[in-house]
Amino acid sequence: MSYKNFTIETDADGIALVTWDMPEKSMNVFTEEVMNEIDAIVDATVKDEAVKGVVFTSGKSTFSGGADLTMIRGMFSLLQGEQAADPDQAMQKLFDVAGRMTWLWRKVETNGKPWVAAINGTCMGGAFELSLSCHGRVASNAKSVKIALPEVKVGIFPGAGGTQRVPRLANTQDALQMMTTGQTLTPQRAKAMNLVHQVVEPDQLITAAKQMIKDGLKPVAPWDERGFKVPGGGIWTPAAAQLWPAAPAILRRETAGNYPGALAILKCVYEGLQLPFDTALKVEQRYFTQVLRSTEAFSMIRSLFISMQELGKGARRPAGIEKQKLTKIGVVGAGFMGASIAYVTAAAGIAVTLIDRDEEAAAKGKAVSEKLVADSVGKGRLSKEEGEKLLSLITPTADYATLSDVSLVIEAVFEDRQVKKDVTEKIETVLPEGAIFASNTSTLPITGLAENSKRPEQFIGVHFFSPVEKMMLTEVILGEKTGDKALAVALDYVGQIKKTPIVVNDTRGFYVNRCVFRYINEAYDMLIEGVPAAMIENAAKMAGMPVGPLSLNDEVAVDLSQKIMKASIADLGENSVKPEHMTLIDKMVNDLDRRGRKNGKGFYDYPAKPAKKSLWPGLKDFYPQKKAEDVDVGVLKQRLLVTIALEAARTIEEGIVTDPREADVGSILGFGFAPYTGGTLSYIDGMGVKTFVALCETLAASYGDHFQPTPLLKEMAEKGETFYGRFDPYRAEKKAA
Ligand code: NAD
Repeated sequence: MSYKNFTIETDADGIALVTWDMPEKSMNVFTEEVMNEIDAIVDATVKDEAVKGVVFTSGKSTFSGGADLTMIRGMFSLLQGEQAADPDQAMQKLFDVAGRMTWLWRKVETNGKPWVAAINGTCMGGAFELSLSCHGRVASNAKSVKIALPEVKVGIFPGAGGTQRVPRLANTQDALQMMTTGQTLTPQRAKAMNLVHQVVEPDQLITAAKQMIKDGLKPVAPWDERGFKVPGGGIWTPAAAQLWPAAPAILRRETAGNYPGALAILKCVYEGLQLPFDTALKVEQRYFTQVLRSTEAFSMIRSLFISMQELGKGARRPAGIEKQKLTKIGVVGAGFMGASIAYVTAAAGIAVTLIDRDEEAAAKGKAVSEKLVADSVGKGRLSKEEGEKLLSLITPTADYATLSDVSLVIEAVFEDRQVKKDVTEKIETVLPEGAIFASNTSTLPITGLAENSKRPEQFIGVHFFSPVEKMMLTEVILGEKTGDKALAVALDYVGQIKKTPIVVNDTRGFYVNRCVFRYINEAYDMLIEGVPAAMIENAAKMAGMPVGPLSLNDEVAVDLSQKIMKASIADLGENSVKPEHMTLIDKMVNDLDRRGRKNGKGFYDYPAKPAKKSLWPGLKDFYPQKKAEDVDVGVLKQRLLVTIALEAARTIEEGIVTDPREADVGSILGFGFAPYTGGTLSYIDGMGVKTFVALCETLAASYGDHFQPTPLLKEMAEKGETFYGRFDPYRAEKKAA
């Protein structure tokens, strides 16, 4: 029998090597067809008496990334489409679909012949769960091998036996840690946790896997053997009595109770370890079905899995323009941002000419990459040769003539219109005809900057976030005259450096910073009302924000807020900034020199390490303090999220952001907007626009007109619309179909 996604070669010892290699895909993923074929392979190998055992591996450089988008989309359309018609039947169907993998892997485990997973590369999610159901697991020690059950990061959990097999192999604490954080394991760590049996040189992988079978590997999982004991003894032991009361508390500390998927892991492990294996799998299947039905799972999978991949693959790239593979770009301005942009570009194998006012400033910019490379080599993340190669791609210089053969130049000089004008003119005297000019400005509208250019249709914004090496998001900004080619090249570049782009129209603050400043402004309001600063910061964390607004303000610099507020007043008039905010920030910056982390004092104090930062006690004297018991933390949480979400809704209404996927992904990757919500617009859609509008009205009555719902929101509430319905990102595809 032949298969579309697998090849099978049986050797003289009767060991069938099953190689998973999906045609037309760069990575193996689980689809309905793949599952059907695995099912058929189990049947065929069981039936074939010549087959003594199976080694399961991948023909690609990675083992598998887990489930496929279309399969996941299918699950949700099942939920949405059929639930209304016949809820019971829809539930049953979802339960069955959710269990498909569970019982197929169980079939592998109980097929009667030994299976060994030969893990040759990244092995994630369902693929690792399949490996866990094999009787043996051998992993290559190549650096590229990463093992994880990362489902919790997209709002679900390892629901194909993961929550049952991992704690029956590893100790419970490690198992919980691995699954509730979705952490990535090296093969060595996986072995230490007892999750793989052997770690071998890449070229020994298949031999070692086959040897396990030849050595008489038993085709029975440990938990199917009589007398099996859970590592550490299970739930009713003194050690477990210490672990389990603490586990939910630790989880709550880490997640503030916002992630049903994470909590379900605890429940599955706790309940499952007390049950026979098949019953335990069923318990897992029930919780999995339940979590799949949660708003959090739906929104997180949509934004963090589906939309992120779609945007990463260039969902917004204009059609009909040939994809470019950039080989050399220019970065002008080798300061804080430019230096790091050069680094991430070279790390993607693209040559960079890094220009500053003089050789010395340019070399200082390259030194940033030298330090980053030295750190990575020191930590074993890069080999010495890889580090040298990366650095050889960056040429620091003051000579603009080196831009004569680049296809893109990124300008990252001072945030000053005149400096940017001079630099633009200088660059354009040498830039090749077709090359694209991108500005990394964070506050100056692109349309205005493009007036300095002779070819505004080739002028675009490519806005990076700091720290550039870590931040996954890049905002691509279209000026009024920006043409399709500029957008296409910008997106090709962002794709090459492996960041996720969102494409937004021109506006003050673009998308991300507009939202961020709302968050920070709400905290100013709270401070002025006398809410203790610690409550503001904690409420933000409880709402799911990674960083409190005051801490964030310290990171971006308090004097930068002051600059931006002054610029708003100059450009838009006095009413654009609340006078109380200006007074607060003037006091912080002008009177107290508290400019943020960069000068060691802002809303927090930053003592020398290893001491930790702490809120500056002097803040208490600014405004009469409310008593903690008089402050409603629930309302604080709402205000912080609602003010951001409202701003996101405004950007859609103004046509700044045009695709809800970008608002959502941009908010999570740009400033960590409570990921369990799926992002700013999913937050609104998740509770329903009508509920959101009512919430805004309640908040506006007590906390100011900035909470007033906008005309669009009111209209949508009336019509019962959602953002993903009204601004359907797939409308063009649907029309075509
Ligand atoms: P920076 O002051 O650290 O760096 C600016 C660099 O430009 C300096 O090295 C300076 O020598 C150089 N420069 C100035 N005039 C020049 C000229 N005429 N020719 C060549 N080089 C010149 O500033 P930065 O923080 O890196 O910001 C640069 C740009 O990036 C700004 O437009 C800023 O708004 C934007 N940005 C900054 C951040 C951030 O977090 N700092 C984030 C996103 C975008």
